[in-house]
Amino acid sequence: MINSLKGLVLTLVSTMKGLRAPVTRQYPSSGNLLGRRDEPTPVKDRFMGFPALTWDDGVVEPYCTSCMVCIRQCPTQCMSSTMKDNPLHEEGKSARRKIVDSFEINLNRCILCGICVEVCNFDAIVMTHEHEMSTFSRNGSRVDLPVLLEIGHKFQKETGWIPPTQRAKAQEDQKGEEAGAAKAAAEAESQ
Ligand code: SF4
Ligand code: SF4
Repeated sequence: MINSLKGLVLTLVSTMKGLRAPVTRQYPSSGNLLGRRDEPTPVKDRFMGFPALTWDDGVVEPYCTSCMVCIRQCPTQCMSSTMKDNPLHEEGKSARRKIVDSFEINLNRCILCGICVEVCNFDAIVMTHEHEMSTFSRNGSRVDLPVLLEIGHKFQKETGWIPPTQRAKAQEDQKGEEAGAAKAAAEAESQ
């Protein structure tokens, strides 16, 4: 009798444990028997999703000059672009003589290697957190300039993105200041 009751209690406890929120998440949403949460599965900061183009809020134009470096280095040749003379440069508002006119990435062929980001000298392309872009059509994953800029700008805002060249320069300046302060302190001590 007592063993039967123990068994019942054990079963009840196991059942109750099964109702709590699970440790793992079920893609694409999470939750348990008592309720489902439909928020997207979060990704880590370093997660590399699809590449997209960045937007220069200061000048109000894309960073991309369509220099073709990333396109030549892309191992799957899934990118293409064209350039045009930059009207904002002619008006004296932008340092970019040329600016991207069209850009396309076939995300079906992209292997998310990040080489395009590594080779870009203009901070113009980033590996975003975007990864849910399945489509039912063969060419549905070809994305053009407006979509690439929209994805890139969303990533910039969500992550507080700072252009890598600006970040590197700020770090260099800080190192220089620290070295200068250390030198001044050493000189003051020796006097
Ligand atoms: S993303 Fe960078 S490397 Fe690629 S075309 Fe634009 S400026 Fe050039
Ligand atoms: S991540 Fe790699 S495969 Fe994808 S567009 Fe960039 S260079 Fe090409």
